[in-house]
Amino acid sequence: MTLSIGIIGGGIAGLASAYRLASQGHQVTLFESSHELGGLGTFFDYNGHQVDRFYHCIMPSDDYLLQLIRDLGLEDQLYWRHTTMGMVNREQHYPFNTALDLLRYQPLAFLQRLRLGVMTLLLRYLGNDEKLDYTPIGAWLARLFGPKLWKTFWQPMFAAKFGDSAGELPALYIKKRMGRESNVGPRGYLKGGLHNFIQTIAQKITAAGGQIRLETGVKRLAQSGAMVSLVTQDGQQFEFDRVISTVPINILTQIAQDIDGVEWLPELTYQGVVNMMVFLDRPVDGYYWTPILQSETGFDGLVESSALIDPAHYNGCHAAYVMKYTHRDSELYRRDADEIADEWLAQLLRVYASRGITAANVVDRFVFKAPFVEPIYPLGYTKRKPQIQLGHSNVYLAASAQVYPYITSWNSSVRIADECLESLSESV
Ligand SMILES: Cc1cc2nc3c(=O)[nH]c(=O)nc-3n(C[C@H](O)[C@H](O)[C@H](O)COP(=O)(O)OP(=O)(O)OC[C@H]3O[C@@H](n4cnc5c(N)ncnc54)[C@H](O)[C@@H]3O)c2cc1C
Repeated sequence: MTLSIGIIGGGIAGLASAYRLASQGHQVTLFESSHELGGLGTFFDYNGHQVDRFYHCIMPSDDYLLQLIRDLGLEDQLYWRHTTMGMVNREQHYPFNTALDLLRYQPLAFLQRLRLGVMTLLLRYLGNDEKLDYTPIGAWLARLFGPKLWKTFWQPMFAAKFGDSAGELPALYIKKRMGRESNVGPRGYLKGGLHNFIQTIAQKITAAGGQIRLETGVKRLAQSGAMVSLVTQDGQQFEFDRVISTVPINILTQIAQDIDGVEWLPELTYQGVVNMMVFLDRPVDGYYWTPILQSETGFDGLVESSALIDPAHYNGCHAAYVMKYTHRDSELYRRDADEIADEWLAQLLRVYASRGITAANVVDRFVFKAPFVEPIYPLGYTKRKPQIQLGHSNVYLAASAQVYPYITSWNSSVRIADECLESLSESV
């Protein structure tokens, strides 16, 4: 049976849903409020090169995303590189990849280094998932690693992403996160970057008869009989058999006020991000990922993306991002982008002066912000997270607020989109 399906949001979740449904012969219309597709995976033109606004890499365990890449015929453009991790603490630089690196990591006392190494290896095998969902991460890690290691090592790492609430997140989330990420190992990327992926999937959607409407934000949904009526910001009205929403839950709560089940959506606080991308005429220090702790910087870490991606992709430059996760109402988020860039660049040069980086090595810099990146999950979120179908309506959800306990990522968004489509097809 052919259905008419409206999809709200043109990030990876919306695009994956649209691609799969259009390929199955459904009549698909995708609505994206901004002027471009990609959501958090957007890109910008840098001297004719399409460069990611926010650093992105693929992990070998990203099964759902890798399957989509194969389905799109992009597998031959995927490549893998071995990447490594550094650590900056009080402006001192350390490699952070091997047991020996850890044993030499001077900011921690020797016994703490041993405890950190052993317990980190064991962490993913410890704890009962159901209990960990209700256990604050701060309490759990302080118990396993000791209060001092929690305070001096783990707390600053999690605070970098979740701010003051870091210790209150469910321990389950952190355990799953550690299952995905490792500091040293292969990371993947697609030649041509996110731009290549987005262009390819958009072309396949339209080739299969799907429609993509940019600059067409959705304002209101209402169930009318068996159909869902959808009203856009510019006043157009559409009727669909089914609607899939991929937007943050607090946006959906506004749009879907008249839909059954909306009252069960949780109220979530989302972290946003401020990130500065720097183009340089030389590598920074070759580590893909470096947390920057206690160094009086406004940012908490550095991703040197050209450790994974060739300079040819960056107009011959090397590239790195520094970032701070923060709420969209914070003073930092609201600050002028040029002011942030000036301040952060001066801090970056100070921290990396000992690696020989000077202002003369900096070719360009750009600041990008995103308001909704990752929910700050409350305890017991497994039972509170939104269901795929909104009440008894024909509105379905494939949102990043549902990927818990897995980390928000392209892979998780493709996974939740696949699960949503399965549930939608069972409803027919
Ligand atoms: C700094 C940073 C680094 C990251 N690094 C990685 C990484 O290395 N690997 C990885 O896999 N993931 C990474 N991620 C996470 C990844 O980008 C996200 O998990 C993923 O892009 C989420 O996709 P989505 O489609 O679920 O949501 P989004 O990308 O948020 O898409 C939602 C879309 O809905 C649109 N929208 C909102 N309201 C409306 C409306 N009313 N009507 C119509 N459209 C609307 C928005 O404009 C947006 O395009 C990173 C994210 C950030 C910010």
